[in-house]
Amino acid sequence: MAAPLAALAACSGSGHPDVGDSAPPVGQLRKTVVPTQYGIELSIDPSKDRFSGKVVIDITLKEAQDAIWLHGKDLKVSEVYLTDAESHRTDATYEERQASGVALVTLTKAAPAGSAQLHFAYSAPFNTAADALFKVERDGNYYAATQFEPIAARQVFPGFDEPGYKVPFDISVIARKGDIVVATTPEASTKDLADGSVLHVFARTRPLPTYLIALAVGPYDVVDFGMIPANSVRDRGVPLRGIAAKGHGHEMNYALKNTAGLLTALENYFGTPYPYEKLDLIAVPESFGGAMENVGAITYDEYLMLMDEKSPLDQRRAYATVHAHEMSHMWFGDWVTPAWWNDIWLNESFASWMENKVASAYWPEGEFDRETLRGALGAMINDSLASARQIREPIDNNDRIASAFDDITYQKGGGVIAMLEHYVGEEQFQAGVRLHMKRHADGTATTEDFIASVAKGSDRPEVEAAFRSFIEQPGLPLVSAKLDCAAGEKPRLELRQTRYAPLGSSIKPDVGEWKIPFCLAYVAGGTRTRSCTLLAGKEQSITLEAAACPTLVHPNADGTGYYRFALDEPGWQHLIAGATKLSPAEALVFADSLDAAFRAGAVSARTYVSGMAALVNHKAWDVAAAATGYLEEVMRIIDPQELGPVEQAFRKIAAPRYARLGGASDSASQLLRKRLQRFLVVVAKEQAMRKPLARQAARAVGLNGLPDPSAVPASERETIFTVGVQDLGEPFFDLLLKQMIDSQNPEFRNSAIGALARVEDPALARKLEAAALAGSFKGTEMLGVLIRQMNRPATTEQTYAWLKENDQAIIKMIPESFRSNIFPTFGAAFCTDARADEWEKYVRSHAAELPGYERDLAQTIESIHLCAGLKQASAADLHAALSDY
Ligand SMILES: [Zn+2]
Repeated sequence: MAAPLAALAACSGSGHPDVGDSAPPVGQLRKTVVPTQYGIELSIDPSKDRFSGKVVIDITLKEAQDAIWLHGKDLKVSEVYLTDAESHRTDATYEERQASGVALVTLTKAAPAGSAQLHFAYSAPFNTAADALFKVERDGNYYAATQFEPIAARQVFPGFDEPGYKVPFDISVIARKGDIVVATTPEASTKDLADGSVLHVFARTRPLPTYLIALAVGPYDVVDFGMIPANSVRDRGVPLRGIAAKGHGHEMNYALKNTAGLLTALENYFGTPYPYEKLDLIAVPESFGGAMENVGAITYDEYLMLMDEKSPLDQRRAYATVHAHEMSHMWFGDWVTPAWWNDIWLNESFASWMENKVASAYWPEGEFDRETLRGALGAMINDSLASARQIREPIDNNDRIASAFDDITYQKGGGVIAMLEHYVGEEQFQAGVRLHMKRHADGTATTEDFIASVAKGSDRPEVEAAFRSFIEQPGLPLVSAKLDCAAGEKPRLELRQTRYAPLGSSIKPDVGEWKIPFCLAYVAGGTRTRSCTLLAGKEQSITLEAAACPTLVHPNADGTGYYRFALDEPGWQHLIAGATKLSPAEALVFADSLDAAFRAGAVSARTYVSGMAALVNHKAWDVAAAATGYLEEVMRIIDPQELGPVEQAFRKIAAPRYARLGGASDSASQLLRKRLQRFLVVVAKEQAMRKPLARQAARAVGLNGLPDPSAVPASERETIFTVGVQDLGEPFFDLLLKQMIDSQNPEFRNSAIGALARVEDPALARKLEAAALAGSFKGTEMLGVLIRQMNRPATTEQTYAWLKENDQAIIKMIPESFRSNIFPTFGAAFCTDARADEWEKYVRSHAAELPGYERDLAQTIESIHLCAGLKQASAADLHAALSDY
């Protein structure tokens, strides 16, 4: 789609007046023309291929103009003109000048400074890849829904498609009789039209940016859940509804029932009521990749909405966090909006941090306590790269907006916010957030504004410098700690900060310095002591208030700091010996720092393996799961033919912990059982467990009789079906593929797809590829299949060949909003320098279809080289250490 438009842009230019002759603004539009209000009327019939629209935009011209830059993409404009304050008409032409959707309206005569209106009539195609205004067919019914963030609104109506322009919208939709229409605000009126269709008119919105507008049109079920009752913060009820594909409305009860509690927790935190008139939750009958915080009409993948009390714990936890995330955006993001995309990190970081706070408050047994920390540790993988980006960075091109939505934005940012909250104190931080909401209500704000609010609200001005040091430079600090217990003196801890760099990295460790809220725990004479300081400068010496030399030092007490630590060999050994007694958060950061040390070549494989094995026995479910996760990941550097002893060691490490779980049914045990079972069965190939599971899998799909879904607990289904797919051959594979295609249950589909994607038999993998090209997977489901098939050593080569043969079709199946970011990462499965070079050339040959791919490719290439380097340096040692375990 991008290619013909790029050609258009290249041949533009002849005879345009002043503005048009200059280059199109590829980043922010010029501020000489600004919108003040939109009137939008769309005709949407999802059974057709195109929709149409009439749009009137009230604008203010800051100076006289004969041409106006704005946004529009793939719009076939049939009429465009401008009217001035006296309603005098000036004719105009419309031309798309940039593939990213920058368009020029050229007036036949210059318009003076002042207010005016731009009028458009146009039509446009429905998107079919879960982006912009997309259509979906389900059981012969056609549905439409929207996904605008970041810059897809311009494919639905012309406008000033930037977050900084917050203005009111009057929206109306002409739809088929019988279709439901859901929009941002409540429906104000409907009117039957002569042609049998119905005009739906919606109340004027509060000031909003284009990307937060939403629509859903089609024969949806609507569940009116009544009012979310008033509470101590809000003196009015909020109408709540659930919207789902026909026949699925009743499956939204769980999501609707738990909404009031989550929303109230947010209102209590912000100290201000939910800012909008109504709340609709839309389960979109398509997997569009998550959820979106559209004002008053939040959209979700069905997996996140359709469930009940008996649904798997992981699914209900995903509902709680994602729902809390999206609703927290109603304040932070929607009510107070980032002024430009360079601050989207704050929007997403805040919501990623808040979702866990709120989910914990509402559902204390849900095990959300360390989600933010685990997210931050996950982001450190990317943050270890030389090509890592800083959290906040300039965005001067439309093509680079989508790449701002990554782990660094969501998870590193969340970790940094948590660190600062911890540093200034929970209540003080909250006061800063509340002040920020008051200062910028219904408006926009920058990162500087937020830092100023937190510094003022918490009365801690020094927080500003610490904040800046983490958001305005890339990478993460490594704090090396060395204990010095000279005779006759108090013990001292010598600290030194560098930038973390793995083996073979081009990072210069001494470049970069952070102001680190640093907390330390140590045990001396049987007493645990904790102390905190703001670490500034490259080196610092801390005197410990202890009579004896400590027997354990943990340089990230409670795991609150966004940094890694390094110890000398005795230091690591002390931590390993005390691993099971560490708090869960301290054990998690220990696991991460130990893994990082191994990847930096700073600890031996034996120390590494014994540390991870000790952590598998930690009482916290997520510590044990994380330790097995690190082992599984590092297994990539071992040649597939040499995995036998590795798998055996993994079984030795994890089996006793799995056995100890027994039949315990608390949340933590359920979560760990599922993960250890997968590790033992799928990763460590525990045959004794696989045989009975294969029989269960066969019963569940009805391999030798009628299907009996109850033969497999839903939470274990993916693992059990994986065994079926790998051990029971074609009949099982065919049956499961068919059941997946026929199923509308998102939870079943997810687990079945996860299992199918782990098929290793080449002939069956070919069937899976054919199903993908035939469109058997919905929306983003195909991506999970492709990534898993690439990542499994048994199928990497075949999948790579298939990808190259069908790349045009595959690229088109990925939603445009993240096509450029996801495609380059498929190569992350490789682990040789030669493949890194080859993959780089290959992706570059598709540059035209993947605008903005550069950073994701650079990071993928760098991680392939790092993997190759680690393999060369440490694979033999790791293999020996595991073989001897
Ligand atoms: Zn978000």
